[in-house]
Amino acid sequence: MAMHMHIREYNSKAESLRLSCECGWEGKANEARRELHEAVMDFECPKCDKMLLIVNLITDAQKYFDWKETKE
Ligand SMILES: [Zn+2]
Repeated sequence: MAMHMHIREYNSKAESLRLSCECGWEGKANEARRELHEAVMDFECPKCDKMLLIVNLITDAQKYFDWKETKE
């Protein structure tokens, strides 16, 4: 089960944050495979592609939905 974290929380501990996977891989969050999506950034194990961490990038949900509306 992937860990969930808010971007503010992630930013405050990104330097020291360590992830570990059930396949045995262990490393810093910035050594994992990072993929950026519209509203989330996810981190996958570089060995087995298992999702380890999902970071929510939305700091203000209302702003986000307002922004979404202007795009439609
Ligand atoms: Zn793994």
